[in-house]
Amino acid sequence: MSPWAVEVRDVSFAYNGNTVLEDVTFSVPRGEFLALLGPNGGGKTTLLKLLVGLLRPATGTIRLLGSEGIGVVLSRVGYVPQDTNVNKDFPATVEDAVLMGRLGPLRWLGRSNSEDRVAAWEALERMGLKDLARRRLGELSQGQRQRVLVARALATSPELLLLDEPTASVDPSAQNAFYELLRELNRRTTIIVVSHDLSAVSSYVRAVACVNGRLHYHPSGEITEETFQATWGRCPVELIAHGIPHRVLGEHRRGEGEHD
Ligand code: ADP
Repeated sequence: MSPWAVEVRDVSFAYNGNTVLEDVTFSVPRGEFLALLGPNGGGKTTLLKLLVGLLRPATGTIRLLGSEGIGVVLSRVGYVPQDTNVNKDFPATVEDAVLMGRLGPLRWLGRSNSEDRVAAWEALERMGLKDLARRRLGELSQGQRQRVLVARALATSPELLLLDEPTASVDPSAQNAFYELLRELNRRTTIIVVSHDLSAVSSYVRAVACVNGRLHYHPSGEITEETFQATWGRCPVELIAHGIPHRVLGEHRRGEGEHD
């Protein structure tokens, strides 16, 4: 089994000729709990979409769980997109929505079996959604809907879980509870979470990467005050991590910086 959950080599990507990511190279070991941080428009969402194969890199290679063909491993990867309200009026119940995650695109029209239903209920239970199982998605708050999206991803027991701004629409106490839950899930699952707010994730994640056109990555165990100063000193986020308070005012200029 490959020790790497994610291996990205020399990846670049542009939308209609506008370069968003350039020469991105990093590897995430299994078991990691990594936050992708950075300013709006820095390319965090684009990077997640590249990882799950929704976008194709212009150059470079991406391997997940040791395999280059994303189709081969997609059933072992959970992806929680940003809550864009698109599912809000879909006439499905919470249970249906989570079961759909279990069935996947190939079995959309098939029937769920008892194993699927047990897995869906376990995911609902983990996310504290059992009491809402028969409610329609449109009746839920944004925070509850976000938990449904996570439960849907969990229903397949993914080895790698990718989440895009999962707490964007919930209040701070719900946010902390949510990250506690991710920490618990991290015992079995590699987690990569996008956030624009390091202070929200700092006491939970073990590694951080700043995405702003380029990517600067600090693996677990390498974050010390010195490395913060040396490499995060120019990252455009306010840092409070690992018990080390940092206020960082400068910015990475596009095109500088590399994998550390
Ligand atoms: P982040 O998640 O860090 O906020 P994104 O990956 O969403 O950044 O966006 C990176 C850049 O790509 C932004 O300048 C954004 O406007 C642009 N962009 C995102 N999606 C598209 C798209 N579908 N078409 C064209 N440009 C896009």
